[in-house]
Amino acid sequence: MGYNFSAGPGIMPAAVVEQIKRDMPSYKDSGMSIMEISHRSALYDEMAQQAETDLRDLMQISDDYEVLFLHGGGTLQFTNVPLNLATKNHHVAYLNSGHWAKKALDAANRIDGLTVEDIQPEKTGYLPSIKNPSVGPLDYLYVTTNNTIEGTTYHQIPKINTPLVADMSSNILAEPYDVNQFDLIFAGAQKNIGPAGMAIVIVKKNRLHEQPILSEIMDYHLEAKKHSALNTPPVFCIYAAGLTFKWLKQFGGVDRIYEQNQEQARTLYDSIDNSKLFKNDVPTRERSLTNIVFKTGDDNLDQQFVTQANRQGLISLGGHRLVGGMRASLYNAMPNEGVDALIDFMKRFEIDNG
Ligand code: PMP
Repeated sequence: MGYNFSAGPGIMPAAVVEQIKRDMPSYKDSGMSIMEISHRSALYDEMAQQAETDLRDLMQISDDYEVLFLHGGGTLQFTNVPLNLATKNHHVAYLNSGHWAKKALDAANRIDGLTVEDIQPEKTGYLPSIKNPSVGPLDYLYVTTNNTIEGTTYHQIPKINTPLVADMSSNILAEPYDVNQFDLIFAGAQKNIGPAGMAIVIVKKNRLHEQPILSEIMDYHLEAKKHSALNTPPVFCIYAAGLTFKWLKQFGGVDRIYEQNQEQARTLYDSIDNSKLFKNDVPTRERSLTNIVFKTGDDNLDQQFVTQANRQGLISLGGHRLVGGMRASLYNAMPNEGVDALIDFMKRFEIDNG
């Protein structure tokens, strides 16, 4: 028995994995596994529709928005978002808040005829603030709500006039955001939702227009018209996501899990701040609840920590290869016992190496 702290694919609720095992031989007495069911069948329609309904409930998504379940993970949306949304002003701005924000910015920069503003943090290491950029008019301002590698988060989204696009890949459903503040939200599934291989896109209907020059599969408008089944959709991912949504509803929804996430993060940050060995440099108001980074300042010691933790069943605590150190990803499915076990281990490690 261990605890998986991986940044993604990440831990899934044990109850969801158990349900998948039970369903696998014969989904809803069909005699087939979910992976063998046609996406043109009533069983599929019912399953996908229910997943959408539950996500709409959890995030309070109104009828003004389409909900799409698409292939290609988060990264394909780095390109599809500007192709679909930057069609009026051909001018967009990106809050350059970390590695994945920069990737999205680079993807936008590859698009011919698009002007991309690169908005840097006002002070090194801090998040650039969300405000109307001095240039414009813009098709959107792009924000990465949680920076998975750097362990920083925009917990508050101020109301501004510029339409917002958000990459919520690593904190969707972990803390409440008001969907109505965004024209588009997307998230890769493999952190808080289910298996890799899918991105969820929540997009305001009035931002969707047919895109005659795009390949059909990249056109959000067409995908919405075809209920995400323009081609064979990621059936297994949608099914597993649907189970996670049900699990989260039973748990008490986003507000309830947010309380647990805050409590878990608080205990872990407290133990880092009270330690003489480990540290985290992120300003308190920007600290992530889902990806908690820490380090000793000695690369060899960090490596020993990760290796020894792994032997104790505390899995995948290594920081991203670009930044080193440690990273504990506390996605929704992480039980309190996992955080307690990590803190215990950190204390023992500090006694042995402090
Ligand atoms: N955005 C963020 C915030 C991420 O953390 C990641 C992956 N770690 C991505 C986008 C890319 O997602 P994918 O691997 O699904 O393309």
